[in-house]
This record gives sequence, structure tokens and C-alpha cells, in this order.
Amino acid sequence: MSLTDLTIAEARDGLRAKTFSAEALTLAHLQAIEALNPRLNAFVTVNHARAVDQARAADKVLAAGDARKLTGIPLAIKDLFCTEGVRTTAGSAILGPFVPPYESTVTANLLRDGAIFLGKANMDEFAMGSSNMTSAYGPVENPWKRRQDSTAVLVPGGSSGGSASAVAARLAMGATGTDTGGSIRQPASFCGLVGIKPTYGRCSRWGVVAFASSLDHPGPFARTVRDSAILLGSMAGYDPKDSTSANVPVPDFEAACARGVKGLRIGVPKEYRVDGMPSEIEALWQQGLDWLRAGGAEIVDVSLPHTRYGLATYYIIAPAEASSNLARYDGVRFGMRTDGHDLRDLYERTRADGFGKEVRRRVLIGTYVLSAGYYDAYYLRAQKIRALILKDFTDAFGKVDALLTPTAPSAAFAQGDNMDDPITMYLNDVFTVPSNLSGVPASSVPAGLDTNGLPLGLQVIGKPFDEETVIAVSAEIERAAGFTALPALRAGAEA
Ligand code: GLN
Repeated sequence: MSLTDLTIAEARDGLRAKTFSAEALTLAHLQAIEALNPRLNAFVTVNHARAVDQARAADKVLAAGDARKLTGIPLAIKDLFCTEGVRTTAGSAILGPFVPPYESTVTANLLRDGAIFLGKANMDEFAMGSSNMTSAYGPVENPWKRRQDSTAVLVPGGSSGGSASAVAARLAMGATGTDTGGSIRQPASFCGLVGIKPTYGRCSRWGVVAFASSLDHPGPFARTVRDSAILLGSMAGYDPKDSTSANVPVPDFEAACARGVKGLRIGVPKEYRVDGMPSEIEALWQQGLDWLRAGGAEIVDVSLPHTRYGLATYYIIAPAEASSNLARYDGVRFGMRTDGHDLRDLYERTRADGFGKEVRRRVLIGTYVLSAGYYDAYYLRAQKIRALILKDFTDAFGKVDALLTPTAPSAAFAQGDNMDDPITMYLNDVFTVPSNLSGVPASSVPAGLDTNGLPLGLQVIGKPFDEETVIAVSAEIERAAGFTALPALRAGAEA
């Protein structure tokens, strides 16, 4: 078995037992990046020298017997997290030359625990997208291939597509992502990974380039539930620098993997049976419920009646907040500048040159729904529906401990598909946005393959600050599913 195939939990043990060094583990991943990144384009920036330095330092810490939770574990960092002294682009040309003078709280927490940063992962521009096709640094390839049509280039999902592709192809042991409407869970589903969007406020947003502040959730990607729980444990925690950070203790998420589901009540929201969903996704959902029943859970029908307004609500609130957050990119303070004949001209030219099409679309929608004549009709109404969506979840969680649904209405699609009409692309988020609007925690766990041999994920949604139940249910599905399939493109198999 090669070092790039290990889980984080296995690598942690191997490092402590001195079976291999942190330097060897990091070099194995850097070699895999060298071999496969030219094709996958999962990383925008690779920090070769810095990662090797960090690994050597980790080996000293290990030799002294002072290992912390993640000492020597090589990770990919979504390029939305500001990293001190390392270029941070947010997938946009406008931040192309931006080198932050500070470290985001989440990445600082990972560094505190000894993690090694291999590089910055590609992503949709400002995290707007579901296919990683909107990045100014080019699309990312999904390492999975269709059985029948193995030449088709599939998308890894988005917006955290680089993080997902890197972890699936064994270029990194885990990664950070952010989820504003599904950007951790949908790429996790498309790439056969576990992704967790924790409760709003669990992981600090400080130093994460803002998309829609009331919806943005940092969280982890990994190949197992245990590994995601380990990463979440490091990333989470109260941060006085983020006014919406929750001052609650961080439990032992890893321990929750072993809890089982005996006695839990699992809700099935009937509104998640959407028209046009492939029957194999429906069948996998049933299979997931059977697995949980076999593990001792009780399955209960519940209703989330406002689900059908979720997408419309999200695509008003997210662009509204984005248009306001992105006003700061004016060519004066951050990143690139296109000179103009006066200040206003400089602003306009910089933003026209620096922002891609999807970002401009969102800024226009957002400005429109916030404008004096339309604020009440769109933005205010969306906020009211958002409150009703939260109430749906509160009511459901009066009856059940967690919900099980599919993560996405399809498996990974090909690059270029769903591109003609932005609305078709937005439909990817139908099952994921309600938990962003309500802030409740949710995961995606690989549960099976479709007829093309592509991974499909199931989503577990939990009560606020009860990630432990989400993790316990996800771990049960992982055990029952026994998902061992591997992507065609991966370290050591880059044929
Ligand atoms: N696909 C959604 C969007 O384009 C969600 C993105 C995200 O979660 N960052 O807005």
C-alpha cells in the first residue's frame, strides 16, 4: 500500500509509530500532485518548499513525542481561505496578485494542530458555481470516469471542486472547503468523498473570502467519516474575530463515529422526492433507510413544506449578500487594478476585467433585489421564507434526531453540460440549500455507484450543534455501504 492511500487516522498512527516520516508522507503527495495536477488542475498554487519545511518541522515534533492532532498530515486548502504569505485567489482574476498578510482562523487552527499545507485548491470564482467551471484558473477534472464513456471529462462539482478532486485522486489526505449552498456536500457526492457542512457558527469565517456571509460555512473533506470528524475537530471552535462564531464547546467528533444509530429516529422528508430524479438515486435513498433501520433506527416520515421555495430564496439572498461583499473589489485595496481616466472609470474597468460572467450575473441580481423599488418584493420576502424554512426544520427536529436525503439530484456530469442555462445549474443545489438557509449541520457520505460506475452520496441533516449525530449516522451508512470503489485517476494509477 502506498502512503497516498492511507487514511488520516492510519497516517496519524504510522507517524507516531515512526513507520514512515512526515517528510516521506508529504513528498509522496507532492509527487502525486506533480504527476496528476497538470491534468486535474485541482491546485491553483502548490507550496512545495513550504510543505517540505513544515514536514521536517513535524518530524522534529514527532521525534520529541509532542505530536498534536494533525502533526504531519498533508492537506489541500480551498483557495478561499486566506493564508499568510501565500497567494489567495478565490478562483478570481481580481484577486490574482493577492497575498494575504494574515491567516484565516480555520487554517490557523489546522496549523496549530500540526497540519501541512500542500497548496491552494482550485474553486469556482468566489465559490459561485456547482461544477468548478467558473474558475478564472480553468476547470477542474473529476478523477472518476464513466464505465461506458471513459473519455468524457466529468466535473468534480463545485464550488470546492479542487479540494474534492485532490482528495479523491489521493493528492491530499483531506481538504478544507466552504459550503454556501452545497459546495462541500455536492462535490463530495460527485467525487465519492465524505464532506461535512457543520452548524453555522461552528467554524469561524474570519479570513475566509466572503461570498454570502449569512450562508458561508467552512468545513472538511476526507475519504472517511472518521477523517472528516478529525479535521472538523481541529477546524471548529469559538473565534471572537467572527461576530457569528458560536461560543460552544467542541465535542470529540471522532468518538461519535462509533456511536451507532440504535434508538435514533431518522426522518424522511417527503418534499425531497423531486420530479425527474433518477430512479437509482431514489433506490439508493431507500437502501440508506434500510441500512439505518437494520442498525436499530426508527424511520419516520416528516414534512418540510417550504423546501420548494429553498432554491428561489437562496438565489435571492446569496446574490444580495454577494453584491454587497464584492463591493470591496474596487482596484484600490485588493488584488488587480485596471487604470482609468478617473476614479470611477478605474473602479468600472477593474471590476469588468476582474470578474467573470457568473460573478457579474450574481452582482447584478443582488443589486437588483436590494434596490429601493424591489427590496420589499424580493429580498424582504426571501428573508421571511427563510424563517419559515428554519421553522420547518425546528418542527421536524421535534420528532426526529436526523434526516436522510440524497445529496444531489444527479451524479457528476460532463464538463460543458448544464452550461446553457444558469437555472439548470442552480437545480444541483435543490437538496443542499435548505440547510444553509437554516444553518443546521449536514454531511454527504458515499453510499453507492450509479449504472455508469459514478459515486452517489446520501445526505444526513442534523439539529443545530449536533454534528455528533450527523457523524454517527454517516458512519453507520459508511459501514453498511462498504464503499470501496476507486476513481480511475489517482496517485499510483495515473495511466
Ligand atoms: N452552487 C451554489 C452557488 O452557485 C452553491 C455554492 C456554494 O456553496 N459556495 O451558489
